[in-house]
Amino acid sequence: MKILFAISECVPFAKSGGLADVAGALPKELVRQGIDIRVIMPKYGSIENNLKARMEKKTEYTVEVGWRNQYCGIEELEFQGVSYYFVDNEYYFMREDLYGYFDDGERFAFFNKAVLDSLPHIHFQPDIIHCHDWHTGMIPFLLKMEYKEKEGYQSIQTVFTIHNLLFQGIMPRDSLKELFGLQEKYDHVDYLEFYGCISYLKGAIIAADKITTVSPTYKNEIQTSVYGEKLHELLQSRSNDLEGILNGIDLELYNPERDPFLLKNYSEKDVTNKRVNKLHLQELLGLPIKEKTPLIAMITRLTKQKGIDLVRHVFRELIAEDIQLIILGTGDHEYEHFFQQMEAAYPHKCKAYIEFDEGLAHKVYAGADLFLMPSQFEPCGLGQMIAMRYGAVPIVRETGGLNDTVLSFNEQSGEGNGFTFSQYNAHDMLFTIERALSFYRDEACWRNIVQNAMAMDYSWAQSAIKYKQLYSELVSRSEIHVYK
Ligand code: ADP
Repeated sequence: MKILFAISECVPFAKSGGLADVAGALPKELVRQGIDIRVIMPKYGSIENNLKARMEKKTEYTVEVGWRNQYCGIEELEFQGVSYYFVDNEYYFMREDLYGYFDDGERFAFFNKAVLDSLPHIHFQPDIIHCHDWHTGMIPFLLKMEYKEKEGYQSIQTVFTIHNLLFQGIMPRDSLKELFGLQEKYDHVDYLEFYGCISYLKGAIIAADKITTVSPTYKNEIQTSVYGEKLHELLQSRSNDLEGILNGIDLELYNPERDPFLLKNYSEKDVTNKRVNKLHLQELLGLPIKEKTPLIAMITRLTKQKGIDLVRHVFRELIAEDIQLIILGTGDHEYEHFFQQMEAAYPHKCKAYIEFDEGLAHKVYAGADLFLMPSQFEPCGLGQMIAMRYGAVPIVRETGGLNDTVLSFNEQSGEGNGFTFSQYNAHDMLFTIERALSFYRDEACWRNIVQNAMAMDYSWAQSAIKYKQLYSELVSRSEIHVYK
């Protein structure tokens, strides 16, 4: 079985969030399970020079982006057993950030067409192209509507994974003509139409042969009007082809036993060195060095989705507790400023690092006692799983993947790997944090909760088996999904 994995970011080359973690880990696991899977992504300017230096140019061709003819180079790199193709065009990708530019619609229109056009040039004939999020949303659509008559494309099927339904790639309607040269052909139908614009993500939902999302609970949630981002009815209409497969985490990358970022390594069997990391973290960040004070951490994009409003709403009540709080994150300026102000107001209790810092993130996971993730919605969430692996007990809202991975501690049975609350309500969150703190004070009880959290198996092996089954099902089924 041959799979081409088309994605906009991938660890260790480029990362803005969990999407890159998935791309860095799942293909590796699928290769281990015998699948010929290759990853294709943009060659960004921000990729480290030592990785760029190892890439080899394989081929070049031109790609039509509306009326433009754009250069496209393909560079290749074998990394940890996986083959990567990098789509090279300096004008589109040699920029400081991955996204957030006025012409993102054009940049990813180029990428989508470059992926489809690459096949005869890279001499790889996939059975399935597995696409992810809006950045690759037009691939299933273009494949089904435009490439199906072309030699070599007829039998290719597509899987589309929704990592976050909020981001849809909504572009002006004339992008169809400007970027794809397709306006006349599709003007009379509503395939891509989205409230007067077009949506790349909608294109994928109507055209992909299978759709997956990254947790079973999120799969159900996105078919409701509350979480469906105005696409719930369309998703309901595809429910037979919609599956929720929980993400895993890369156990090599996130391994407290061997993590090079930690001052002292530790394991589930012997967590004594976790406290060394806690004290080191307090010292590093300029917090009072207090072993017994519970250290709560958040490592997150600072956006509405992540429940930052709840923290802001009860911040003064929360900080009045005997706690220390570390925020590592970047995002909306109002949240960044808020945490900077709180650090200034409570310098002995609160530290806000408004940066994206992978090394510091590992140190914080290792040093923290509790990991707060009160998301408004959470497709899967990796933070809580990484935190558990490092023995930082998660406090989460019961939504999406948080609901599928965190089981609230039950003092009667001793079961549970964290603390949860259900309503999107700041005082429910505060109450849950206080409940967690009350158990923290009981050392034996806390040791048990930490053990429960560290014992969880969130490796990719199980999820990869599910993707493999999905691929096999798709390749063996005779009828092809047709959008009516
Ligand atoms: P999302 O993909 O929605 O941002 P996830 O929980 O799925 O959220 O994944 C977030 C990933 O990004 C985790 O690996 C987390 O450790 C990492 N991360 C988030 N913010 C930062 C930051 N400021 N510095 C370092 N790593 C971060």
